[in-house]
Amino acid sequence: MTQFSVPALPYAYDALQPAISEAIMKLHHDTHHAAYVTKLNAALEGLGVDSFDTEEATLEHLLSSLDSLPNSVRAAVRNNGGGHYNHSLFWKFMTPGGSAMSTELREALEAKYGSIDAFKEEFTAKALGLFGSGWVWLQPNLEITTSPNQDSELMNGGPAPLLGLDVWEHAYYLDYYAARKDYVDAWWDVVNWAFVSERFKAE
Ligand code: MN
Repeated sequence: MTQFSVPALPYAYDALQPAISEAIMKLHHDTHHAAYVTKLNAALEGLGVDSFDTEEATLEHLLSSLDSLPNSVRAAVRNNGGGHYNHSLFWKFMTPGGSAMSTELREALEAKYGSIDAFKEEFTAKALGLFGSGWVWLQPNLEITTSPNQDSELMNGGPAPLLGLDVWEHAYYLDYYAARKDYVDAWWDVVNWAFVSERFKAE
């Protein structure tokens, strides 16, 4: 059967400092992400899961077809499979010191929002307005959406996101306490826009 595994971080635990501390990264990756994977594997034990070339593709298929799962495991797969998928992407959405956006993505965001600053303001406002735990997404059509818990648009039949921000307290509380805005403001400094731009081109 398919066994999911926690991907290694593509950089050192301390590489995103000062935006995100080594302590947060260790807790977030080694404890929280690992727990989603352990619980996902437990929920899927004994069930047949269609496997694709990559774990990402297998997860995308699974999360897009939650209705086909038995009731007894659907919520566990939604929460823990969603958690595994979202976090696997989240690590790649960041890179030490950030990276540059393509001209194509920059012009598309400027056309839609007026400026990159205006886009960031709207994304940040959505992050601050999200009650409780969840994610803020930049969709392939450049709309900004939010989802609760570990949900994503995949579960509504939507596409994979271009970019996502984890606004669960476990993502920032150690560094920022309740100051979610300070976390979001700092996070922009480590966004891997080169990766986001590749995803945008692929659309
Ligand atoms: Mn998280």
